[in-house]
Amino acid sequence: TRQFFVGGNFKMNPITRKDKLALVKVLNDAELDPAVEVVVSPPALYLIPLAESIRKDIKIAAQNCYFKDSGAFTGEISPAQLVDAQIPYVILGHSERRTLFHETSEEVAQKTSAALAKGLSIILCIGETLHEREAGETGKVCQSQLKAVVDVLKKAIGGDSSYPKIVIAYEPVWAIGTGKVATPQQAQEAHADIRSFLSKAVSSAVADSTRIIYGGSVNGGNCKELSTLPDVDGFLVGGASLKPEFVQIVNSKK
Ligand code: 13P
Repeated sequence: TRQFFVGGNFKMNPITRKDKLALVKVLNDAELDPAVEVVVSPPALYLIPLAESIRKDIKIAAQNCYFKDSGAFTGEISPAQLVDAQIPYVILGHSERRTLFHETSEEVAQKTSAALAKGLSIILCIGETLHEREAGETGKVCQSQLKAVVDVLKKAIGGDSSYPKIVIAYEPVWAIGTGKVATPQQAQEAHADIRSFLSKAVSSAVADSTRIIYGGSVNGGNCKELSTLPDVDGFLVGGASLKPEFVQIVNSKK
């Protein structure tokens, strides 16, 4: 069985120290379903202070990293630095990174491989744009984004043994920050398709055990129904992770 996973991607929020403290207090005081793996991802500047102030059953994720260990790469942070800072997770391939910062699937795969080699766990984001969905290319786009990682891992030391460290986040771009959540049918169909791709491209064991979580306008109101879908193993939450309703989303199976 796959442990339910709920991630909060704070993106480039919140700005003030007061907002951050309020958010940490809500989470620290909440009754969270102990069966759920909970991870929150603040801007890089706050990774260490958040790790120090948040309850120990919530893990921390970086929102990005580079693939080199160190060197002349102004503005980047490395997997080795995250490990040294005791940050266990990193989000890679978020659609905002792919679109606004022009990351290719090959670069995302290279980062994934480098981060895994250092022992980090990965939240690997994939998903189609509205244009691609309307063209009937949802499956094709998700598979090609995932295939870049599968191909790199086939050649990497460790190979298939890396998959338990990867959570796949299916985040349709048209649902991110728009209030237009995928319907249960759209989410289930995409997740089942991703799982079947994993089965063919890697193995049925990896397909059965890999968590595939949904992201895109998840909130306290729509999380319960989505959480009952057979191939939805949790959520990656943006906007609602900055609000007290994040607690409801963590507890959506309760
Ligand atoms: P929203 O929940 O704000 O739509 O963002 C989803 C997301 O991009 C999480 O990574």
